[in-house]
Amino acid sequence: MSATLLKVENLSKHFIVKKSVFSPKTIIKAVDDVTFDVKKGETLGLIGESGSGKSTTGNLILKLLNNDNGRVFFDDIDITDIEERKMRVMRKDIQIVFQHTHGTLDPKMTIGELVLEPLKIHNIVSSYEQDKEVTRLLEMVGLLASDKDKFPHQLSGGQRQRVGIARAIATRPKFIVCDEPVSALDVSVQGQILNLLLSLKKELDLTYLFISHDLKVIKYICDRIAVMYRGKIVEIGKTNEIVNLPKHEYTKKLIDAMI
Ligand code: ADP
Ligand code: MG
Repeated sequence: MSATLLKVENLSKHFIVKKSVFSPKTIIKAVDDVTFDVKKGETLGLIGESGSGKSTTGNLILKLLNNDNGRVFFDDIDITDIEERKMRVMRKDIQIVFQHTHGTLDPKMTIGELVLEPLKIHNIVSSYEQDKEVTRLLEMVGLLASDKDKFPHQLSGGQRQRVGIARAIATRPKFIVCDEPVSALDVSVQGQILNLLLSLKKELDLTYLFISHDLKVIKYICDRIAVMYRGKIVEIGKTNEIVNLPKHEYTKKLIDAMI
């Protein structure tokens, strides 16, 4: 049995929303008493329809959002109430790749500057080595040194996601939350990005929480799957077991929809 890298216990996040000034407040249980762990070296898939609480779960792990209840442990350290100053150091180890690069890649920055940014923030290499390191990272994700001077709009969607991945691996993390990293891409490009994530995982000894609404994608890349429905994990297990012998009605529907 391999060691646990991430452990999430009874995690909850509720949002209070008011649709209009006249409507009453309603509580959305975006994440509702969620417990799971991710073993070192594995890819755990988090699947569910839109609005089931997947991204909120990812954001709670990264502490981009504060939770209402529960605890998050990373490498046996309780990071639930960790102060922001210490969390900034932890973010070197816990990275995220988002679905949309337009929110994360500043259009006014060049690709070189974008990949340099995390290296500088986390002081990964000396200033003397920075340029060489940017080249190395670009080549690792299948881009060229000559792409450094380009701007995000000069790249294709797949290439932009490669930049997002280069930024995530720049800090030499142990764990990456991949939140629908291929959902905005053409199907023909999706496979290339999934294969890149798979090969980087091997090369860099990474562990992934892979969020997707697409069972085909999850089936391709994940060792285990957690099925999320209305803020709860309704089923978790090895990919083959979940796909071949789904127990929960909702999982059965997801699989039927895929066939
Ligand atoms: P998923 O990633 O599975 O599509 P999300 O985690 O984004 O789902 O959202 C889960 C639920 O929480 C949805 O009903 C969504 O509308 C709601 N939600 C997410 N973020 C917020 C927010 N900041 N304020 C209010 N409601 C939110
Ligand atoms: Mg989402």
